[in-house]
Amino acid sequence: MKALVPVKRVVDYNVKVRVKSDGTGMDIANVKMSMNPFDEIAVEEAVRLKEKGVVTEIIAVSCGVAQCQETLRTALALGADRAILVETSEELQPLAVAKLLKALVDKEQPGLVMLGKQAIDDDCNQTGQMLAALTDWPQATFASKVEVAEGQVKVTREVDGGLETVSINLPAVITADLRLNEPRYVTLPNIMKAKKKPLENIKPADLGVDVTSRLKTLKVSEPPKRGAGIKVADVAMLVEKLKNEAKVI
Ligand code: AMP
Repeated sequence: MKALVPVKRVVDYNVKVRVKSDGTGMDIANVKMSMNPFDEIAVEEAVRLKEKGVVTEIIAVSCGVAQCQETLRTALALGADRAILVETSEELQPLAVAKLLKALVDKEQPGLVMLGKQAIDDDCNQTGQMLAALTDWPQATFASKVEVAEGQVKVTREVDGGLETVSINLPAVITADLRLNEPRYVTLPNIMKAKKKPLENIKPADLGVDVTSRLKTLKVSEPPKRGAGIKVADVAMLVEKLKNEAKVI
């Protein structure tokens, strides 16, 4: 069974992003970019399934600018077998990515698509769900445990009240949550090996997909600055201020 693993190039989680002075978006020029952390977990899970003999080939996919190749090379160094870059300079929204992935699913016929639960730049948490709708495949989101057996996958999901275990038929869409696994470190020999693995470069038009944005960002602004706090003399004054100034009790 082939596994398709979409990996997004995002601003590194350690970077403190700033809003552009004209309010049109975030200033991401010259900041460190990395693989979306949940996608690293998804790649790791696919690699573990390959090590168990469940998956035979892992195909990493990234949609975006030419530099997404670096993200794909990281996926290859983590253990993916080959990579596909769907190159475009358009800003991609989840529906466009889901349509590109659907076209690749039709072409590659994987048994499993393993995404991250959410991209840490747009926080959309939509692509996996939209892909499941477009493919009409079962989906298990927020996975913290994945067990594949005889054409089915048992997925433990992190839900508000605790853990939910669902069983779905393959082919399926799964999205990875934080506690699914701890991704391995990329080693130098594997980085070298990854350079020789195949990386195909295609365009959205090759897949017959129109990626034009459907949403327009009107304005991006910084959250309001927090004012300085004050010291209160005693509990009675604290309660008085919470009641009459902050009006929260
Ligand atoms: P989102 O719906 O934007 O929060 O993204 C959820 C997941 O979809 C990510 O963790 C990735 O696995 C996948 N994804 C989103 N955008 C892209 C992209 N441009 N290229 C590859 N995968 C993506």
